[in-house]
Amino acid sequence: MTAAAQPPAPAALHLRGVLLPEAEERDLYVTGGGLGFEPVPGAETVLRGGWILPGLVDAHCHVSLSPSGPVLDEDGLRAQAYTNRDAGALLLRNPGSPADARFLDGDPAAPRIIRAGRHIARPMRYERGLAVEVEPAGLAAAVTEQAAAGDGWVKLVGDWIDRDKGDLAPLWSAEDLVEAVRVAHAAGARVAVHTFGEDALPDLVAAGVDSIEHGTGLTDDTIAALAARGGALVPTLVNVANFPGIASRASRYPAYAEHMRRLHATAADRVRAAYEAGVPVYCGTDAGGMLPHGLVAAEIRALHAVGLPAADALAAGSWAARRWLGLPGLAEGAPADLACYAADPRADLDVLAGPARIVLRGRVVR
Ligand SMILES: [Zn+2]
Repeated sequence: MTAAAQPPAPAALHLRGVLLPEAEERDLYVTGGGLGFEPVPGAETVLRGGWILPGLVDAHCHVSLSPSGPVLDEDGLRAQAYTNRDAGALLLRNPGSPADARFLDGDPAAPRIIRAGRHIARPMRYERGLAVEVEPAGLAAAVTEQAAAGDGWVKLVGDWIDRDKGDLAPLWSAEDLVEAVRVAHAAGARVAVHTFGEDALPDLVAAGVDSIEHGTGLTDDTIAALAARGGALVPTLVNVANFPGIASRASRYPAYAEHMRRLHATAADRVRAAYEAGVPVYCGTDAGGMLPHGLVAAEIRALHAVGLPAADALAAGSWAARRWLGLPGLAEGAPADLACYAADPRADLDVLAGPARIVLRGRVVR
């Protein structure tokens, strides 16, 4: 293997800036990879003035996938992880991966990655070669196995084109899903589910899944039910922008193609409706499927464009998403993962395109 260059042990760092979300100008100190507010003698000042956010979050980022296919070699996996890091995404949730990129956990220059195992789907009902494919009778066992392979998440494919029907259709029955969620939760894992259409959602939400990925088929009823259950939505808007292209390549399945176009046309409205109903909405790009890595800022801007206030779009891709995934924000003792900007990103999200400083695990990486 190609070992990552080991940077020297981190020196104490000092940053001064406006901390978000509190919007207070403060001095921040970094020692041993953690944050503190007490002055540290001799700390090197690496930011004087600017805005300091908890590292950005891409909560739907397939390290190991690329638009030209799976990437399974260590150099390729590391390059994807670094691309996300350099865009400010210091925490990734990888919702389904054919590669075990766990060697990256030992690389201090790599973003933190929270993994589901592999996607779980039925035969012929997902992208070929990516998922663990099981019939419904094998779902619970597959969930148990993938929960053990991941970091507290499993990923189900909830709907996909059924070529016999020529349209999107659910993969699993209500009973299958209740059992899958029960087994996952018993194993300490949350359940993320890929879904595009309307029909899979009532049973998924009723079964208590923890996050809906894409979710373009959410109706007012399933939004209300999801909000009542406290389930989250990761709408992957930058990738939903590809739906018309998917439709144009699906001319053999005109009902499916028309459905995908319709879902694309209503996607912005559905995300806004979910947000307004109180569903927690988080930033995820779906990098690696049809899109390259490193698009976290574009997804935050897209969330704002469909109606989230800029501060809430930022929260969806920073402090709120970190909390959702189990990591603190800019608190005493929190991991020193910081994305710093020269201007206030709440006033102009385009600022996210050019971080002034990135500190990861207590080291300046940019
Ligand atoms: Zn995905």
